[in-house]
Amino acid sequence: MDDIYKNLAKHLDNLPAGFPPTDSGVELRILTRLFTPQEAEIAIGLSMMAEPASDIAKRLNMNETILSEMLESMSKKGLIFSRHKGGQDLYMAAQFVIGIWEYHVNDLDEELIKDFNEYLPHFMNEAWVKQKTKQLRVIPISKSITAEMNIMPYEQAEEIINRQSKIVVAPCICRKEHTRVGEGCSKLSEACLIFGSGAYYYEKNKLGRSISSDEALEILNKGQEGGLVLQPGNAQKPSNICLCCGCCCQILKNLKTLEEPAKAVCTNYYASVNGENCTACESCVERCQMDAITVEDMAYVNVDRCIGCGLCVVACDFEALSMIEKDEADRWIPPANTFKTYLNIARERGKI
Ligand code: SF4
Ligand code: SF4
Ligand code: SF4
Repeated sequence: MDDIYKNLAKHLDNLPAGFPPTDSGVELRILTRLFTPQEAEIAIGLSMMAEPASDIAKRLNMNETILSEMLESMSKKGLIFSRHKGGQDLYMAAQFVIGIWEYHVNDLDEELIKDFNEYLPHFMNEAWVKQKTKQLRVIPISKSITAEMNIMPYEQAEEIINRQSKIVVAPCICRKEHTRVGEGCSKLSEACLIFGSGAYYYEKNKLGRSISSDEALEILNKGQEGGLVLQPGNAQKPSNICLCCGCCCQILKNLKTLEEPAKAVCTNYYASVNGENCTACESCVERCQMDAITVEDMAYVNVDRCIGCGLCVVACDFEALSMIEKDEADRWIPPANTFKTYLNIARERGKI
């Protein structure tokens, strides 16, 4: 039976986002908690191409009716992804992060949280940090943007939201799991904005609620006011925007432990201090989720730690902080869409 989970782990590791193995085997423990052996067997048979149950049944040599029920139930449990297209239900593999883990936002227990927190730093170091294309990127909050900046529409959260025809807001699993074990912060609890086919999946599986773009803009505004970092999917047409805090967000929390987090983030900006205006008041220090600012006679930004979120700019009452665009050669141009993002990641990880 253990072989099934090892095979599933290998299968998940071969998907673009990866599921790197550990020496401790904690990742197998996680899979054993989430999948029955039969579900694991079926998950191994799915790829990143969405297919009808009939095609999958043929390939797996299974009865189509039984398999359809299994796929539907696995989709509800957040073990695979499904979408409705051309009048039929289609099923495909879900990646571990971002994917299976996030789909368990309503189904957490303390043991699972403990295992996940043991595994995530390994996942970050062995997958996320090593690949050039990250699953998420960081964009500056709107109040830190000025007319002089050469900002692209895909770098403006409001623009991204206004282009969507379907938006779902979901509870933030990072804050929820931290709260469950007594470590959560009090920041916005509904903080994941999901678009397109992901939004339909979230709505169908009761993982979030459908909202208008006006409400999404309100949530975005609350997030920015509350000091949350904007992390959209790493595509020009992103499938989500996450509003993240440095204390609970599994991505930011792990990036913060690095010497130079800026090198592990796709961002086009960094903060700069105008020493003449700086009063050394320190308001910006706490606002920075990456511990990038120190204050002596004035504030100093460590650009190797700055992820270009812009939060410090609005914390400064003395107009001493501003966002600077990176040089042309260092600018990050996100792939056109999410499919291309994952194609890039798969290539960078040597999986295709
Ligand atoms: S990535 Fe950000 S918004 Fe998404 S679940 Fe984690 S902290 Fe919450
Ligand atoms: S210094 Fe900190 S708060 Fe300011 S932009 Fe950089 S990471 Fe964000
Ligand atoms: S908030 Fe502004 S004035 Fe105060 S220390 Fe930071 S940069 Fe200087």
